[in-house]
Amino acid sequence: MRIDLHAHSNASDGTDTPAELMSAAAAAGLDVVAITDHDTTAGWDEAFTARPTGLTIVPGVEFSCVHTAEDGRRISLHLLAYLIDPSDKQVQGEWERLRASRRTRAHAMVENLVAAGYPISWTRIDELAGGGSIGRPHLARALVEAGVVPDVDTAFRDVLSSRQRYYVRKADTDVFDALALVRAAGGVPVFAHPIARRRGPVVSDETIAAMAEAGLVGLEVDHPDHGPDDRAHAAGLARELDLIATGSSDYHGTNKPTGLGARLTTADQYERLLDLPTALRPVGD
Ligand code: AMP
Ligand code: FE
Ligand code: FE
Ligand code: ZN
Repeated sequence: MRIDLHAHSNASDGTDTPAELMSAAAAAGLDVVAITDHDTTAGWDEAFTARPTGLTIVPGVEFSCVHTAEDGRRISLHLLAYLIDPSDKQVQGEWERLRASRRTRAHAMVENLVAAGYPISWTRIDELAGGGSIGRPHLARALVEAGVVPDVDTAFRDVLSSRQRYYVRKADTDVFDALALVRAAGGVPVFAHPIARRRGPVVSDETIAAMAEAGLVGLEVDHPDHGPDDRAHAAGLARELDLIATGSSDYHGTNKPTGLGARLTTADQYERLLDLPTALRPVGD
């Protein structure tokens, strides 16, 4: 079984339409794929309609969260929420707030960049986002199109990172509130790329233990941003805390180099996820 539990469409910051994402999943030989756009379920229906025979879809969302550490540091983190009730008023309200903030923030970053002389426009970036959940990858693509940087990765490193002066913070949900919201809406919360240090500071093992206590169900152990040591450490934590250990590509189409199926979840861990009581079931044959 080839199971990839984390992938983005152009409903957020991926470049494939949800239908293209489903074809790409079949072409990559996947049996199971999760569509997990940032703070939105907008891609789900198109994905279900386009589902190729033999492919199972796990609907999910990647929820933008934050944890304030004991020393006051603000650590951003992502919570995957699988098989969640998409009509739940509380989560939808929260995701709407986060998407609105993504838009205000992207606009503010564009203003900063334009003021500094970068040849990009809000109109083009708005078009690239296509009304979806907007993020820095859309700004990165505009910078590539304008010839400012050779690729998206360089755009992040040299222009869009939180260490650069153009950066503006977006709203995020406190991760403990998010855990409660996801559980109340019948979803399965899995901590995405928990030790992806290249993205910034990561939370402590103690915080992950507290999250497990507060209803966390799984840990994304195998992820392109985890080195071998991080992976081993995450696997140890998952065992210790009795969390489901997942693996996934975090595919973003041409916005990132990783292909679908580059990292996988094992069948036994996927079975554990299926055994849970959830608001929705995976969509398959
Ligand atoms: P935002 O959610 O707008 O703060 O932007 C963060 C998103 O940008 C993450 O979800 C990643 O998918 C993406 N991202 C971060 N770093 C990179 C990178 N170096 N190359 C491509 N995408 C990236
Ligand atoms: Fe992303
Ligand atoms: Fe993420
Ligand atoms: Zn992701």
